[in-house]
Parts: sequence; C-alpha cells; structure tokens
Amino acid sequence: MKNNKSRGRHELKQERQFRNMAIVTLIITCAICVTGWIISKNYRSPDHEQPAHMKTDAEIMAFWTNEMEEIIGKELVLGKLPYPILNDSFNSLNAATVDRTGHTIAVTMSTKYHWASTNVQAATGITSNGAVSIELYIPAFADSFDSYRSSGQPDWRNLFQAHAIAIFMHEMEHASCGITTNHISIGEESRAWAETCRHTLVPMADIYRLGLTTTEGEFYVAWKESFGDTNNIHWIALLDKLYGSLDGRSNH
Ligand SMILES: [Zn+2]
Repeated sequence: MKNNKSRGRHELKQERQFRNMAIVTLIITCAICVTGWIISKNYRSPDHEQPAHMKTDAEIMAFWTNEMEEIIGKELVLGKLPYPILNDSFNSLNAATVDRTGHTIAVTMSTKYHWASTNVQAATGITSNGAVSIELYIPAFADSFDSYRSSGQPDWRNLFQAHAIAIFMHEMEHASCGITTNHISIGEESRAWAETCRHTLVPMADIYRLGLTTTEGEFYVAWKESFGDTNNIHWIALLDKLYGSLDGRSNH
C-alpha cells in the first residue's frame, strides 16, 4: 500500500453529481468491493506500474472528465451504452435498488485512494439516510488507465472502458441486493461476481466481443470453468485468491 498514511477518507474529497443520481456528503462505508485487486498478474493484464508521481486533485478530475465521464456518467448511468443488454441490466439493477431503499443511488468520485489498497477502484455502501452509495476511487482508475496505455495492446483504450463499465456494473450488483455489513465479505463478493458474470461479463465477451482484462477476465474464465456454479472449485479458488486475505476486514 502507499499514500494511505492517516488520511481522512473525506478530506479534500471532490464530489460530482451524475444527472440522475443524488449526491451525498457523508458516506458510511458498509460493504467494500475490491475490484481490480491484482492488476499485474491476471488474464490479458498489462503490468501494473506504480504512478511516477502523485497526481494532483486537478489532474485526477481532468482524468475523470477526459477518460471516464462519457462512458460512465453520460452513457452507462443513462442507459445509453451501445450495448442494449448492458443497458437493460443497469436499468433493472438501478430500479431494484431504488425500490429497496426509496432513494436514488448516490455516486461520488474520490480524488484519494481507498483505505485498503491503491488497487481498490470502487466501493459500495450506505449513506446516513439509507441510500446506497457507490464511490469511485479515481486515482486507482488512473493508475489502471496508465497501465493499459503502456501495455502496447492496440485496443488498450477500449479495454480500459470495458473494465470501467464492468466495475461499475459489479457495484450495481452490490447495490441492488442489500448491504448489511461493514466488513469485507467473501460470500457477498462471490454472489455479486456471479451476477456480474451473468449480467455483464458474459454478454460483453460472448455477444459484444469486448475484451476483458485483469480481474474481469479471470472471473469470466472461472465462470465458464465452473459452469456457473459458485460451489465449483475453480470459482472458490479465484475468490479465495482475490478476497481470502481480506475477508472480515473493515475500516472501523
Ligand atoms: Zn464487489
């Protein structure tokens, strides 16, 4: 880990608002999702390099505006991706979340890394008024983007965009099904990743022929090898590799 020394999670946080989602200023993290946990060792993964320098808040927000806002903030969350199955999945998960909580989903973008690791790119939690929040850790996305760019793969930007979509959809799986613990839960991650495979990764790869990288690629392969059975040894082994050391941890 790096750059995590005694930093308040809310300190200097920059927040922006998606058009159809409410904003919140207080986030109580009640479930943590570790996506993109191991970037350097996975399926079709570029080597993960440490950032050459700490990006400023302005650089982080510029990265969001230039590389993520269109695909996430103006397409995915508005149901306007060029992938109808993914739009349908997003709309269903969003509606289920609103029905369950009575609130729209709050999305925030942090200019700081997650407390657990610089590789954590998103987390889902509950706000003080009972709404679901999804927080995106933009420095971790920027690191991932830099790794894709330096990978030499000709379609690196498309791979990054598919990665960003998959991560957000994975958070939507957490959001739609109820957050009841403030600890990292390997069981909840198994459930949410299974649904992410079913609703997002399989359509991405099999229907839309999008490349899958890093953790998503590993889950796609494990899902196929397990024939969709989360009790299968291939599936259990991947969950244990990615989340075994984190199970039960929290920031409280
Ligand atoms: Zn998760």
